[in-house]
Amino acid sequence: MFRSLKSIELAGFKSFGKKTELVFGSPIVAVVGPNGSGKSNVAEGFRFVLGEQSMKSMRSKKGEDLIWGGSPSLSRMNRASVKVVFDNSKRLLDIDFSEVVIERVVHRDGQNEYLLNGTQVRLKDVIRLLAGANIGGSGYQIISQGEADRILNASPRERREMVEDALGLKLYQHKKAESERKLDETGVNIDKTKSLRRELAPHLMFLRQQVEKIEKAREMKATLAEKLNDYLARENAWITQEDARLRQEEQALAGELKKLSESVSRTRSASSGAGGDALAGLQKKLSEREGKLSEARRESERLARELGRAEGALEANTVTVEAIVPVPHVRNFARELDATVSELERVDDISRIRNTLSDIRSRIRSFIEGLSGTAPVTNEEARQQVKTLSQSLEQVQKEESALAGELEDLRKKIGETREKGFTAERELVELEASVREAQGKLAGVQAARASVAASRQRFEDEVREGVALVGAGVRAWENAGIPTGALSEDRGAQEKRRREIERLKIKIEESGTGSGEQIVQEFRQTKERDEFLGKELVDLEKSAASLKDLIAELEKTIDARFQEGLKGINEALGNFFTKLFGGGHAKLAVEQPRRVSRAALEEMDEDEEEIPEEEELYAGLSISVSLPRKKIRGLEVLSGGERALTSIALIFSMTQVNPPPFLVLDETDAALDEANSKRYADMVGELAAKSQLIVITHNRATMAAAGELYGVTMGGDGVSKLLSVKLEEAERVAK
Ligand code: ATP
Repeated sequence: MFRSLKSIELAGFKSFGKKTELVFGSPIVAVVGPNGSGKSNVAEGFRFVLGEQSMKSMRSKKGEDLIWGGSPSLSRMNRASVKVVFDNSKRLLDIDFSEVVIERVVHRDGQNEYLLNGTQVRLKDVIRLLAGANIGGSGYQIISQGEADRILNASPRERREMVEDALGLKLYQHKKAESERKLDETGVNIDKTKSLRRELAPHLMFLRQQVEKIEKAREMKATLAEKLNDYLARENAWITQEDARLRQEEQALAGELKKLSESVSRTRSASSGAGGDALAGLQKKLSEREGKLSEARRESERLARELGRAEGALEANTVTVEAIVPVPHVRNFARELDATVSELERVDDISRIRNTLSDIRSRIRSFIEGLSGTAPVTNEEARQQVKTLSQSLEQVQKEESALAGELEDLRKKIGETREKGFTAERELVELEASVREAQGKLAGVQAARASVAASRQRFEDEVREGVALVGAGVRAWENAGIPTGALSEDRGAQEKRRREIERLKIKIEESGTGSGEQIVQEFRQTKERDEFLGKELVDLEKSAASLKDLIAELEKTIDARFQEGLKGINEALGNFFTKLFGGGHAKLAVEQPRRVSRAALEEMDEDEEEIPEEEELYAGLSISVSLPRKKIRGLEVLSGGERALTSIALIFSMTQVNPPPFLVLDETDAALDEANSKRYADMVGELAAKSQLIVITHNRATMAAAGELYGVTMGGDGVSKLLSVKLEEAERVAK
């Protein structure tokens, strides 16, 4: 059989004050020697190096007790160390070395060191590595002196643990415990992550709402930009068109007005200036001619009278003074009177007229009085006078008719001139009305232009405001065409657009989000963090699920192996028990599950770390024994030897299902009689087929079964010494 356990070396460990090495050259190695020589210290050396944490199981109170305490001849040591060497060429241990040296050192201060091929490692690394090779270190693999029946004395739970250990389930249990620990950790992390997300949620919601607002504002801004563009383009087109149209209209009106004004002044000067003067001149001429005419008429009348008189005198041939009044005298008088009367004609004042009339009467009276005493004129003279008078009359009458014709012309002319004046006046009135109308129109156009200028001003303001609000993009109208209908539509449409734009502006302002870049960024980061946490949560939940699966799988494996292993153990137990007792039977059975508080469990296993109190469903292992020819049942009634035999049968059968690489049996055979010692030795031989055996014994039969014997002695110096011995010597040494 392949032997993986090569040797053990104890240095400063308990009674081995000097470095001592045991080489295991045979499947069964027996350690013999007198009481107190240090044999059990070898078994404890195994416990120690395999990671035993219970001081009690190494008969010590503290780490220091394990160190060579010194003797008069060999001073105490500061450290105890045990090294065990494995042949790992078959990779018993899951590590890539063909030889594995595990060493444990304890110092006086209680500090422990673990070394794997010289490299410091943790205890748990050692335990895991060994567990993988089904080396448990405690329980059944190393049976300390007097501890053989521990499995009988153990509680059902402890017993179950020992069996599980023997079945190599520790490894799975470690894995399960590890997975459970990881699951707990994962649970904690899940809770933490959930709580982080919960903490994040309100902030994230707030940010989301803000961002939604910002996005809405952005949309509104985009709409605003669009509407503004359209509105401004229309406004610009309209204003430009209106301005041009009104300017043209204004120019036309101004030109018209100028022309009208010119016409007015022309007409005015025509009617009042030259026309008036002409009329006055004509009238003056008329009155002058009228004067002359009446003068000519009077003259012609006088001449006619004188002619009559002269003709009469001539006829009568008598000439009276009255008949021969000198003509020039009379003419003068008549002219004077005529002039006075003409003047009077133009006078309105009645009293003045009256005065003048009385004056005229007195002048006439004195004229007539002045006529007396005039010399008579001869008939020749009279004839001459008639002739002259006739000629004069004819002359005057010609003059008279010429004047009358002239007067007629003048009157006609005056009428015409007057008529002309009236027409000009009417024209002037009409022209002035036209001027007023044109002025009114011009004022209207100017007002319209002022209104367009105001619109332009407002437009500029709107452009500026628009740029500030949505950027230079609002100037797009500068390079775009005129929107359809911009020049023909009703202004009300633009008004409606402006109101809409104003409403939008107010809405944007009310949203009060500004550009919100920072908030958007914070939202993005927070969302990323939340998503990261979400993903982490999914991962964690996945790993929790896979851990649960793993745990369930492990539980299944553990359970299956346990059931199967238990079956195997019971089979082996039946076999060994019958061999030892020559009949009867013993059996391990799983108890009815019961609730055991964790604390109670802990008490049974003092080295496990503390777990908060909780209950666990636990089914221990009970053992039933039935001895041949004896009607007894129950362990309590067994004799010491019977107990020892049952224990041995149990321990040995446990090693059969999942044999460990080696077993250490410290005087397990101590209580056996000779016959049973022989049977024991046979069984040891049987076990050795599967595991290396290190047996500490005083029994010859056992020694005889060993292929190699070591004698342990202790001299006066208190140091355990080791020597290889033969069977004959061994018996001597052992005594
Ligand atoms: P038995 O056959 O009676 O079981 P044994 O051979 O198994 O005896 P051990 O119990 O292994 O003997 O050895 C005990 C001896 O080891 C005692 O003499 C004890 O004084 C000695 N010893 C134990 N611890 C120390 C220590 N720290 N330093 C020195 N000697 C020690």
